[in-house]
Amino acid sequence: MSLLVVGSMAFDAIETPFGKSDKIVGGAATYIAWCASNFTSVNQISVVGGDFPQEELDALTARNVSLEGVQIKKDEKSFFWAGRYHLDMNTRDTLATELNVLGSFEPVVPESYQNCEFLMLGNLAPAVQLSVIEQLKQKPKLIVMDTMNFWMNVAMEDLKKVLQKVDVLLVNDSEARELSGDYSLVRAAKSIMAMGPKYLIIKKGEHGALLFYDDKVFFAPALPLEEVFDPTGAGDTFAGGFIGHLAKTKDISFENMKTAIIVGSAMASFCVEKFGTERLREINKNDIDERLQEFVQLVNFDIDLVG
Ligand code: AMP
Repeated sequence: MSLLVVGSMAFDAIETPFGKSDKIVGGAATYIAWCASNFTSVNQISVVGGDFPQEELDALTARNVSLEGVQIKKDEKSFFWAGRYHLDMNTRDTLATELNVLGSFEPVVPESYQNCEFLMLGNLAPAVQLSVIEQLKQKPKLIVMDTMNFWMNVAMEDLKKVLQKVDVLLVNDSEARELSGDYSLVRAAKSIMAMGPKYLIIKKGEHGALLFYDDKVFFAPALPLEEVFDPTGAGDTFAGGFIGHLAKTKDISFENMKTAIIVGSAMASFCVEKFGTERLREINKNDIDERLQEFVQLVNFDIDLVG
């Protein structure tokens, strides 16, 4: 099987300046699975409590997401995260992080998940991400890792160990600055790549994303949208589109990674249009192709440098 995903599956409570959600289904691996399953089958590793809705698990199974690696702790509660967005809808405050089942999570990679070619380490405790890498008998063709400032604050040493083992790191601009201690994103990229990953993607919310490799850099814009409803999960959805495209095409060249970050940006633009995973559940291949076409129009221009 080609794509292995590990990350949180959760309940979220979201507040934006324009509305508030009840406790809804979220989690990094949930968004990644909804998104990446448009491109490839997914083998999921996570943990949920007995309170996690069975319908959600069934809906993922129907999307060709294998849940053999998802542990269900019947007597415990699922991970819970609450956040409030600022007026710019780009920055947010975390109001609550209740680890619950995640606090004692020991992932087990099922035998049927071995030999995966692509590994997506979604946002989760770095020690758990490391344990998944170590359980794999064969190194995947590409390991992509996401993380967040929360783990930089509570588990920096573990985080540095995982960084040494991954090929691509995805962070947002403030996380890149925190991890490197440098305000310049170009210098930050250099020091982060020196920590392990050969490729670095820095997400800048509505201002797009940068892909760094060696001394090269590529920029993908975010689609200018009239309305952003809920940015939660946009980063995970971006990751799902990025690795989903690479897993589908099995091409890990820098050129194809450029396309992959456009695919990631296109998928993220759907995610923010409704609360939670709602929009991702609705879209089909036609919607995705049309959106990708909009990106082509967005960045396509001619220039005559002669004379
Ligand atoms: P994003 O908006 O892409 O950064 O991702 C938001 C998702 O990450 C939410 O659905 C949360 O459930 C999940 N999340 C938030 N904090 C954590 C954490 N410390 N560990 C794992 N997942 C988290």
